Amino acid sequence: MRARFPDFRLGSVLATSFTGTLTERRGNAVERIPTPHRLVDWLTVNGLAVESCTTAQLERAWELREAIHAAATAAATQDALPASAVQVINDCSTQGRAAAILTPEGDRRWQLSSASCVEDALGVIAADAISIIAGERDGKLALCASPTCQAAFFDTSQSRTRKWCDMNTCGNRQKKARFNANQRKSPPAM
Ligand SMILES: [Zn+2]
Repeated sequence: MRARFPDFRLGSVLATSFTGTLTERRGNAVERIPTPHRLVDWLTVNGLAVESCTTAQLERAWELREAIHAAATAAATQDALPASAVQVINDCSTQGRAAAILTPEGDRRWQLSSASCVEDALGVIAADAISIIAGERDGKLALCASPTCQAAFFDTSQSRTRKWCDMNTCGNRQKKARFNANQRKSPPAM
């Protein structure tokens, strides 16, 4: 399944994986869920499969995503949470009616109230955002060190010193940039 969607950044934290569907926010931003169909794909990969999605539901998803981004960024920088963002997150959380289901294998699965209820999926994402912004989970919100990204991510490393939202993209690019800078500084090899 993952190989079918190579351009989604999949993290272990649902809420920040969701904010990661808009990448390079401080550079040339890339929208990875530009159409309802792409949102359906993203939800499917993240265990929140829906059968369909309307344009209005996609717009609501974007609104929630930007609210989570704003609130998580404020939490990471220890600023006051923007009231409008808190309102959107809470509205999405209260409107969702997904149920947590324990499978016989001992896994958690989300059951939506209907196959087209994107609002239920957004409710799960909003609740996930609330749990990390409220500091209920083991980890710390931080901002990506890449100047063209600065995405909020949830650092669960032991030392809480993770610098990049994603090692494969932002982390790698920084490493390459530093390598190239060092190459230029050192004298040409004979
Ligand atoms: Zn980043």
